[in-house]
Amino acid sequence: MIPFPEIRWVDILDILLVALLVYYLYRMLKGTNVIRIFWALIVMYIAWRIFAALNMRFCSQILGGIMSIGLIALVIVFQPEIRKFLLLIGTKTQLTGDTLAKRLQFWRSDVNKHSGTNFEPYIQACMHMSQSKTGALIIFKRSNEVEELVRTGQEVNAIASSALLETLFFKNSPLHDGAVIVNGNQVLAARCILPVTSRTDIDPNLGLRHRSAIGVTEQLDVISVIVSEETGAISYAVSGEIQHDVTPVQLRHTLERYLTEQSD
Ligand code: ATP
Ligand code: MG
Repeated sequence: MIPFPEIRWVDILDILLVALLVYYLYRMLKGTNVIRIFWALIVMYIAWRIFAALNMRFCSQILGGIMSIGLIALVIVFQPEIRKFLLLIGTKTQLTGDTLAKRLQFWRSDVNKHSGTNFEPYIQACMHMSQSKTGALIIFKRSNEVEELVRTGQEVNAIASSALLETLFFKNSPLHDGAVIVNGNQVLAARCILPVTSRTDIDPNLGLRHRSAIGVTEQLDVISVIVSEETGAISYAVSGEIQHDVTPVQLRHTLERYLTEQSD
C-alpha cells in the first residue's frame, strides 16, 4: 500500500500562496486577450512535442526555435500585464504596510487625511451634474501617489466645493475635459488624462469616460466617480470594477467606506 504522504504546514502555506497567485492573475487577466495568447502557446507547445515524437525534423526545429526564445517573447508580449501585476502587488503590500504602521502608531499614512473629509461637496456636485447631464470624472486618491496623473493635467490646488466642481465640469469651461483628481477636501488638478482599460468584456455602450475611469483603478489604488453626460447616471469604479447607476446615498456610503475605513 502506498503510504499517505506527510503534509507539513509549509505545504499548506505553499498551496495557499499558489491559490492566491492564481486568483490575482485571474482577476487581472479577466476579460483580456491574454487567455487567448496563452491558449495559442499551449497549442504550439503540444504541436512541437507531437512533431518531435513523429520525428518531423523541419517542423519541430522551427517550433523548437520559437520555443527557445519563448521566455523573452513572453516578457515582451505580456509587458503591460506584468507591469499591472507588479503594481497590484506593490499596492497591496504598501496598504498592509500602512495599516501595520498605523496600528503601531509610528507613522500616520496619507489615507488618514481622509478621516476629516467632508464628502458633501462631492455628493452635491454629482447630484446637480446628474440632473443637468453634465459629464464628470472625479478621481479620489487613496494610498498611491497620483503625481503622474496630476502632471497630465492642470494643477488646481483648491478646497473642494460643490460650486468649484460644477464650474470645472461646466461644458464651456476650458478645464471641463478629462478627469479631476482630488485628495480628501483638496482638488489637486483638472483636465487630467487617465489610462483606458483594455478589457473587452465591459458594456459596449460605455465610452471613454467610463473606460478610463475603470482603467485608472486597475493601475492605481484610487476611486473613480463618473457622471454620464448621456444619461446623467452616477457610477463609481474600484479595483477595476464599475458599479453603474448608483444613488447619491450609495455613493456617499462608498466614499465613506473606501476613503475613511483605514483612518480609525
Ligand atoms: P458619457 O456617458 O458621459 O457620454 P462615455 O463613457 O460615453 O461617457 P465619452 O462619451 O467617450 O464617454 O466621453 C468622452 C469624454 O470623456 C471626453 O470628452 C473626456 O472629457 C473624457 N475622457 C475620454 N478619455 C479620457 C481619458 N483617457 N482620461 C480622462 N478623460 C477622458
Ligand atoms: Mg458618450
